[in-house]
Amino acid sequence: MKVRITILILLLPLVLGCADENGQPEKTPKLLLVSFDGFRYDYLEFTDTPNFDAFVRGGVMAESMRPVFPTKTFPNHYSIVTGLYPENTGLIANNMYDPQTGEEFHLYDREAVEDPGWYGGEPIWNTVEQQGLKAGTMFWVGSEAPIQGQQPTYWKRYDGEMSEEARIDTVVSWLAGDTGESVDFATLYFELVDDAGHDHGIESDSIIAAIQRADRLIGYLDRRLEESNVGPINIMIVSDHGMAELYGDKLIVLDQIINPGDIEWITFQPVTFIQPTKGKTDEIYRQLKEREEHYRIYRRQDLPEKYHLKNHRRVTDLVMIADIPYTILTTDFIDRFRNHLPTATHGYDNFAPEMQAFFAANGPDFVSGDTVGNFQSIHLYGLMNMLLGTEPAENDGSIDSVRVLLK
Ligand code: AMP
Ligand code: ZN
Ligand code: ZN
Repeated sequence: MKVRITILILLLPLVLGCADENGQPEKTPKLLLVSFDGFRYDYLEFTDTPNFDAFVRGGVMAESMRPVFPTKTFPNHYSIVTGLYPENTGLIANNMYDPQTGEEFHLYDREAVEDPGWYGGEPIWNTVEQQGLKAGTMFWVGSEAPIQGQQPTYWKRYDGEMSEEARIDTVVSWLAGDTGESVDFATLYFELVDDAGHDHGIESDSIIAAIQRADRLIGYLDRRLEESNVGPINIMIVSDHGMAELYGDKLIVLDQIINPGDIEWITFQPVTFIQPTKGKTDEIYRQLKEREEHYRIYRRQDLPEKYHLKNHRRVTDLVMIADIPYTILTTDFIDRFRNHLPTATHGYDNFAPEMQAFFAANGPDFVSGDTVGNFQSIHLYGLMNMLLGTEPAENDGSIDSVRVLLK
């Protein structure tokens, strides 16, 4: 008899875990993915963040999360939701050129951003909707385009003017089902911390104010979820990359090294994609190699494997990667924008400490009170599928690398 009681007591938590208080089978918790663009892994150390602290205390935080290369918004947000490296999504930069179609992509070009031809792979909202769940995206790179001919049940066209509170209210209403059928998976996106970093630098009062504002938004989200009876929910707060301070004298002036007339297509970022005019690749490579200081120059096929970038046709013949804190630009650009150069930026090597991103999670399926070591953002797609009980599409991540986050 004693043995039976023991077994019953041992089984009790399992049985309780499968049913709600009315004896109904317990539903899989919903999942909310929140991105604070450019929120460096160590920003919580910059100031008081009581709401983040409470979130982390009841959940789990990573020392840092490794973004994909290049450490820019479009490649990174899209790799998070597909579990694929940029060479497998085709979203290799914020601005790019496709030699196959002859078209250009720029993040501020609406037509390009909403053209599914730029986006490879299967984003998580398609995976979940194909398996009978509902998704709602309050801005996420890719969700404005009908990828695989499909979009989330609810989605919003990116609008930087929409207040952060309105973004939260809308997503909470989707999760609560105020607008009809409730969603199982939702995303939120905030650019304010990235903006403050670029405009004022990471040593500024503005970045402190932005981190504090982000913290208040976490408090607001928490209150709104509670008031709206959303029920059990797993929340992941992530960023897409870190941020590094720039210095006005740390410049690599490209037209002092090569002839701009020999270039067919170029995009300037800490990672500079250079497509030389026909027959000029070897000469430009040689000129850049001879003066290789504070940057590295690669032919596409020689890009290090660790970047997982070279196997896509949108990567130009030559790729120049600045060392932190150097910027690659031209004399003309300096003359025109001398007083408007960014104070801090990102895009550099995704292994650099300054480029590491933020990750914290809280909810019924996450361990509580733990800090885990660095892992790659590429694993989040598999993790999200596991949390939602859906079958992931083929991807570059592995669930084993992030299992430590889970109970
Ligand atoms: P980055 O400098 O690479 O971090 O890019 C950040 C900028 O990307 C933000 O300030 C936004 O203006 C922009 N952005 C983010 N999501 C979108 C989107 N879905 N469509 C267009 N622009 C976006
Ligand atoms: Zn970004
Ligand atoms: Zn940025």
